Amino acid sequence: MESLISLVNRLQRACTALGDNGEDNALPTLWDALPSIAVVGGQSSGKSSVLESIVGKDFLPRGSGIVTRRPLVLQLHRIDEGREYAEFGHLPRKSVPIYLSIYSPYVVNLTLVDLPGLTKVAVEGQPESIVHDIENMVRSYIEKPNCIILAISPANQDLATSDAIKISREVDPKGERTFGVLTKIDLMDKGTDAVDILEGKAYKLQFPWIGVVNRSQADINKNVDMIAARRREREYFAQTPEYKHLGHRMGSEHLGKVMSKHLESVIKSRIPGLQSLINKTIIELESESSRLGRPVATDAGGKLYMIMEIVRIFDGIFKEHLDGVRSGGDKIYNVFDNQLPAALKRLQFDKHLAMENVRKLITEADGYQPHLIAPEQGYRRLIETALVTIKGPAEASVDAVHGILKELVHKSISETVELKQYPSLRVEVGHAAVESLERMRDESKKASLQLVEMECSYLTVDFFRKLPQDIDKGGNPTHSLFDRYNDSYLRRIGSTVLSYVNMVCGGLRNSIPKSIVYCQVREAKRSLLDHFFTELGKREANHLGKLLDEDPAIMQRRVSLAKRLELYRAAQAEIDSVAWSK
Ligand code: GDP
Ligand code: MG
Repeated sequence: MESLISLVNRLQRACTALGDNGEDNALPTLWDALPSIAVVGGQSSGKSSVLESIVGKDFLPRGSGIVTRRPLVLQLHRIDEGREYAEFGHLPRKSVPIYLSIYSPYVVNLTLVDLPGLTKVAVEGQPESIVHDIENMVRSYIEKPNCIILAISPANQDLATSDAIKISREVDPKGERTFGVLTKIDLMDKGTDAVDILEGKAYKLQFPWIGVVNRSQADINKNVDMIAARRREREYFAQTPEYKHLGHRMGSEHLGKVMSKHLESVIKSRIPGLQSLINKTIIELESESSRLGRPVATDAGGKLYMIMEIVRIFDGIFKEHLDGVRSGGDKIYNVFDNQLPAALKRLQFDKHLAMENVRKLITEADGYQPHLIAPEQGYRRLIETALVTIKGPAEASVDAVHGILKELVHKSISETVELKQYPSLRVEVGHAAVESLERMRDESKKASLQLVEMECSYLTVDFFRKLPQDIDKGGNPTHSLFDRYNDSYLRRIGSTVLSYVNMVCGGLRNSIPKSIVYCQVREAKRSLLDHFFTELGKREANHLGKLLDEDPAIMQRRVSLAKRLELYRAAQAEIDSVAWSK
């Protein structure tokens, strides 16, 4: 029995500890799931006295004129040996209840709540609302389904006026968690007794009534100790003829046992629920701590290894984007398949090679003297001026692919969970990758432009040889300088050049993507972080440490997660062992 209650208290302590760690959401769940015992009743009905005698210790403010206005949450912790001591709960946040822990070899493990006494009227100096305020506060404690209610009624008052019974019925109509305790039996008028009540005849409760005799005010004044008080209580029930037959289920000790037994059965019924609650929390904590990653290695080798490992994970993710395992790489194909062709189309070679422009360029190329055989220079200039414009779309494609690769680097960085932990490393890897991409972009630009320049610098002679020869015969050298060529001749030149330029353009449309993939995409896959790794090898140990500078908040979070995990795992082991031993 005690092991079970000990388990509960341990769990509760774990929760209190978690709550005290300043984690806003950690406290309530487990705490709320476990039962506690609250005493409720009118002022001076003997609430504190009952609690005290369950505990078997003098520690509560108690007696006439002493009114508790704040709930007192009392946790009893059984310790195997040593001196007993009390401890106020450390409460970082301001809260209404006072927490008090008692450690003693002489207690059973229990959590008890001493509630403020219910009143009927506000006394002088108190606001009118006090009656309701107290009632509401009391209700807020005892309405929780996991609260076991000790309803205290003094035997020397009419049971019909018992505030304790009234409010308990309200929150627990079936009486499944209410225990009626009758105090001050010794103070009843001569000739009257509480037998009818204690036997359940006057007022039936689900659980049998328990009568107690606490210390009187005079006893308190005389410092009668607990042991003596208990002995006297035992003697009272054993010797008073009216109660002799009830003696075995009367008194504070019996009340303590009943409470423990009840708690035990309640907790047993909750074990499966608790297990799943704890398991769920552990899974959550584990997944968060795996998101946060491992703590940093201490030696230089370990650090270097760690950095390489993390950076390789990033590199792998980046490659997956390019290879289509992850999304985004397809955008590159879109550049080749749509953007580049559309840009080439926008160059409008046909307009460039319209008759008037052809006339202008050919005439200019001839210079002061019209050509004799064919407008060779004119042809060349026409072709060159058209082809050179392809440089624009070529460069734009290189830049577009660069933009996509950069975006994929950023995406991959944010998808590398391991990098989240180390802001400095994250920044450096990002920089190194982007710098690499920039170098590749510059190379790629050179290569693409070179492809275009190559086309400009050497024309495919065969293309022109195969043309019908009459094209070259339209020139009329006898015309004046301002009328060297007739319109149809110029048109024919225009269309010849246009088909040549289109042919070359079609070739570039295929070769530019190849060059880009070769220089940028393939190269990024091959050597994105080569430079970074080379530099890394040259670094001093303390420099490596700087790269692994963790965000202090994350470090702290990891520590607190580990602490919580430890608590929950301990709780889990504990509760599992109880569940299996059932
Ligand atoms: P609370 O206000 O409900 O917490 O009541 P206390 O426990 O402080 O008790 C109020 C007064 O009643 C104190 O002087 C106690 O000594 C006295 N008292 C409580 N229970 C008994 C009892 O069973 N018998 C006698 N004679 N006095 C009691
Ligand atoms: Mg009290």
